[in-house]
Amino acid sequence: MSENSFISIRNSTIASAIAGVILLAVPILRGYVVSFLSWVWSGVVWCWDALVDSYSLPGWAWLLIFIFALIGLINIYLAFKGESEEPEFKSYVEDFMYGAKWRWSWIGNQISNVWCFCPRCDATLVYDDSSCCSFYSDDNKTDFICENCSHDVVASISGGNKDYATGAVEREISRRIRTGEYKKH
Ligand SMILES: [Zn+2]
Repeated sequence: MSENSFISIRNSTIASAIAGVILLAVPILRGYVVSFLSWVWSGVVWCWDALVDSYSLPGWAWLLIFIFALIGLINIYLAFKGESEEPEFKSYVEDFMYGAKWRWSWIGNQISNVWCFCPRCDATLVYDDSSCCSFYSDDNKTDFICENCSHDVVASISGGNKDYATGAVEREISRRIRTGEYKKH
């Protein structure tokens, strides 16, 4: 017997002895642990029976199913763990930018459905990026207009069409999250 295996046997013997003492000292806990262990043992026995007995599936197939089930359980556990630890910025879903109130939602860590609303009446703004389609215009911009407040241009983002404007807002949201500015709102 090598020295390493001797040490590991010695350690596990000591651990078992300590566990035994603790269990003796706490009878209620012992009851729970015993019922848990017997539950685990009945599961082990069931698996063993399934592997040994000649079912329609051979033993190795049961083993594969067991491994896949275990992987599935681990994935479910990790998914729940991930959900319970939502990052703080997920609660950041609206802010004032370019003169309008912008709202969005989170899909994972991605900003989704970003759109703007009128800061005066909260109406959904409509966009006008017709300047981007004009061959003669060199002032590419997207205006956001409130139909509820006498068709005023509420916000204007220069540089491109509607997709460019929402992209610019998404970049600004990411910037405010990185710098921690969003926490002031
Ligand atoms: Zn309005």
